[in-house]
Formats: sequence, C-alpha cells, structure tokens
Amino acid sequence: MGAVLLDGKGLSREIEDDLKNRVGKLNNEGIEPHLAVILVGDDPASHVYVRNKENACKRTGIKSTKIILPASTSEKEVLDLIEEMNEDDDIHGILVQSPTPKQINELEITNKINPAKDVDGFHPQNLGKLVQGDTDGLLPCTPAGIMKLLIHAKIKLEGKKVTVIGRSRIVGMPLSLMLAQKGVDATVTITHSRSKNIDKICQSSDVIIAAVGRPEFVKKEWIRNSSVVVDVGISRVLDKSTGKNKLVGDVEEAAMEVASHMTPVPGGVGPMTIAMLLTNTVVSATKNST
Ligand code: NAP
Repeated sequence: MGAVLLDGKGLSREIEDDLKNRVGKLNNEGIEPHLAVILVGDDPASHVYVRNKENACKRTGIKSTKIILPASTSEKEVLDLIEEMNEDDDIHGILVQSPTPKQINELEITNKINPAKDVDGFHPQNLGKLVQGDTDGLLPCTPAGIMKLLIHAKIKLEGKKVTVIGRSRIVGMPLSLMLAQKGVDATVTITHSRSKNIDKICQSSDVIIAAVGRPEFVKKEWIRNSSVVVDVGISRVLDKSTGKNKLVGDVEEAAMEVASHMTPVPGGVGPMTIAMLLTNTVVSATKNST
C-alpha cells in the first residue's frame, strides 16, 4: 500500500481561489493588494522562485512589483530601498528573496522591514508573537503552509510525537513552535546536525518533517508503518538516466511505500509556501488599509 499524497498543489489552488474573491472585494473598496519583491544578484533558482511568486500574484489579482538589483548592490542600498517601501502606503508586502549576496546580512534586512509588511513572517516581532502563542499575525510561509496541509488532511497532532529535522529560523524553528502551541498540542523533537541517532528518533515518531536541504537524507527504514512524512527539502540533482537535473526532496521516494501520508516533491510544500505568501499579502492589505 502506498502513502496518501498530501497534495499541496491542489490545496494551494483552493486557497488561491478564495484569495481571488477576497482581492476582488478589496478592489471594490479601492484597495489593490500589492507585493514588492527585491531580488539581488543572478542566482538562477532565485529567479525561478520569484517568477513563480509573480505568476501566483497574477492568478489571484494581487499586484506585484519586482526590483532586480545587481549582485554588487550594497546592504545600505537595499536597506534604503526597504525604507522607501516601508513609507509607501500602496505597498502591503515586502519580500527580499533569499539567499542574498555575501555583503548583505539577511538578518539586517529582515529587521528593517516594517513588521506590518513582513509577508515572509521573519521579523522578530512576528516570530515573537508566535512564541507568545499568537498566530494572528503574519506567519512564516513555509511552516504555516505545512500546518494548513496537515490540518486539511485531518492529521491528528494532539499528543502525537512529531520530529522536525532542521532548526532554521525560516522553517524548522518556527514550525516546531506552531506544532507545540496550545490547541495543536504535538510533542515535538527538534533535531539538527549535532543530533545523535536521528534514525531511531524518526522510527518512534508519528510525524516526521524533514527540512535539512540534503537530498534523500531520510531513508525508508527510518519511517515506521503509518507515519506521516512531510518533505520540505528541494535540491537539484543530476538524473543519471536522462543527464538532466531533477528536483528531489530530503526524503527517499521509497518512503512512500511505508508512510500513511506523504508530501510529493515537487507539488507538496512548495506551492503551499507561495499560497501563504499571497495570504499574508492579502491579510496585510486588509489590516493596513482600514
Ligand atoms: P538551512 O537553513 O540550511 O537549515 C538546515 C537545517 O538542517 C539546519 O538546522 C541544520 O542543522 C540541519 N542539518 C544539516 N545537516 C544535517 C544532518 N546531517 N543531520 C541533521 N540535521 C542537519 O535550510 P532551510 O532554509 O531550513 O531549508 C531546508 C530545505 O528546505 C532546503 O532544501 C530548502 O531548499 C528547502 N526549503 C523549501 C521550501 C519550500 O517552500 N518547499 C521553503 C524553504 C526551504 P544545524 O542547525 O546544526 O546546522
């Protein structure tokens, strides 16, 4: 028996349909939700991610502005641009595509964005709210998308043992907070590069969420029968049979044979991340225009 697919692509389209209606209503009130994306440098994957975000904005009627800056741009130049966007009442969401070139400190960038326009949900004020159990603010997109996917699939989390592999500030850490918060009530284990026996920890887990960035790091043998597996990883690797690059996740595809539910790569967490970015932009436009 194979795992039931957690179809992020399908759910993200449902969320987009709902957002399209909300955008229409805002338009009737004279409000045009507007996302500004800053892209520094010429990392090809970043250009693809930004294009996907632009296309999703188009589908939902959200205005998007893309500003591409050369790789040599200084941190101060980006901070000054953010300052201008913070002051611009027509812009509701500001996003600086990661990774930025070495001379630009991403934490400085995050801290500069007005928390009310922080549609990535990484500003300390928004992350701080999460620690206080307040999920009413702008939530980090990937963790919020994963929570939506699990809740939509009616995966029971209360009292369940959930292992999160990875403790980054954009995925693993905020997701762990969301899973452990009151009302969700999972028992969360956070693992990282210094953790021992991750295989054994996974074998005793009801839900495994892999956000490592290492292709096929989690093996089928680590998954016990009927566990739920969420694969956040996206890596480009050479497919020896075709000689072309292909996308793979952090979990071996064979895990599908034992898991009860599993996200595909691509088509699982990725589209949900974009759907949550659009949601944050509409939330910000709604809150900041009334
Ligand atoms: P990151 O900042 O590089 O963090 C990776 C985490 O994995 C770190 O906490 C690291 O531990 C841990 N790790 C690395 N090697 C390990 C090992 N051998 N054993 C256990 N833990 C290990 O990455 P990220 O930004 O969280 O992203 C993770 C993956 O998700 C990447 O493939 C990324 O492309 C993907 N991603 C996908 C989406 C999406 O929308 N689908 C969104 C964001 C990210 P330490 O803290 O000890 O270094």
